[in-house]
Amino acid sequence: MTTSMKAVVYHAPGDIRVEDVPVPTCGDDEIRVKVDACAVCGTDLKTYRHGNPRIKPPKIMGHEFTGLVETVGSRVEGFSPGERVVMATSISCGQCAYCRRGWTNLCVDLAPMGFTYEGGMAEYTVIPARAIRNGHVVKVPAGVKAEHAALSEPLSCAVNSADNSHIEPGDTVVVVGAGPMGIMNACVAREVGAEQVILAEINPVRLKQAEPFAFDRLVDPAQEDLKQIVMDATGGIGADVAIVAAPAAAPQEEAVYLVRKRGTVCLFASLPASDKMLSIDSRAVHYGEVRVVGTSDSTPEHVRKAVELIAGGSLPADRLASHVLGLGDIFRAYQLMQSGEALRVVLTP
Ligand SMILES: [Zn+2]
Ligand SMILES: [Zn+2]
Repeated sequence: MTTSMKAVVYHAPGDIRVEDVPVPTCGDDEIRVKVDACAVCGTDLKTYRHGNPRIKPPKIMGHEFTGLVETVGSRVEGFSPGERVVMATSISCGQCAYCRRGWTNLCVDLAPMGFTYEGGMAEYTVIPARAIRNGHVVKVPAGVKAEHAALSEPLSCAVNSADNSHIEPGDTVVVVGAGPMGIMNACVAREVGAEQVILAEINPVRLKQAEPFAFDRLVDPAQEDLKQIVMDATGGIGADVAIVAAPAAAPQEEAVYLVRKRGTVCLFASLPASDKMLSIDSRAVHYGEVRVVGTSDSTPEHVRKAVELIAGGSLPADRLASHVLGLGDIFRAYQLMQSGEALRVVLTP
């Protein structure tokens, strides 16, 4: 085996390099994976442009990876070379009050791949002992394409919001924001049984991009009355669930008017820290007994469910993995994301 490999390495804001680095060694409690796909997340683009205080450079980027197990450490049980794996990549401590309740995504000591640990934009990555011990490695059935499996991590975050929003079969779900995560939320809502999925987006390019997914209704709230459309679609009572995947105050505040009594508003996105406050109609929440929840990241259980959905074949994974490029094309990937042309760019080392 060769001793060096190509990797996308973060050095400083604006300074990301595709370079040769040593192939990482695999300890007795670790698994080394031969990566064959790693999707590029919006947070990777943010890190490139603005840096991230949680990353100590140099660090190999990428947390949405998949690959085949190449080496299994001598003390690791339950894995064999050749198996395809993905991860719940924010690795939990396994001991804190949140981990003990199974809410590993809320762990007080999260250590994510590509932040704390070296990431997956490389030919090989090593899964740390803590991830294996705490159940963060999820197997993918044979036959699932690498570029589809790489969607497990972002999709698992949408599985978390479907879960936390209590989407039930037959529900009407409104998703506000048709960026990559809005579309993934809408896809997952449909997969878990929503009867009507209404997707709202003010950006015409993104709205157009959402068309082939054939959701029940696409709405441009700048041109049409979203609330009226939702009311008309639900016999005048409102949606069961509204998921806001747009980092803007207005749609987050207005979402309480889109749901029925006892409906759920899920904030999938937050606002920038510098301008983080919302004004929400207390009367709509109080008299309507509306639940307002947030969701962030995902647990291994959500990743397992995402893998199931991908393997099931009805999820439009080919459309979601809109661009497949080489590892060296990372800057092209950033361009495609910034211009809104790409939903998910998957890099194949
Ligand atoms: Zn991500
Ligand atoms: Zn913990």
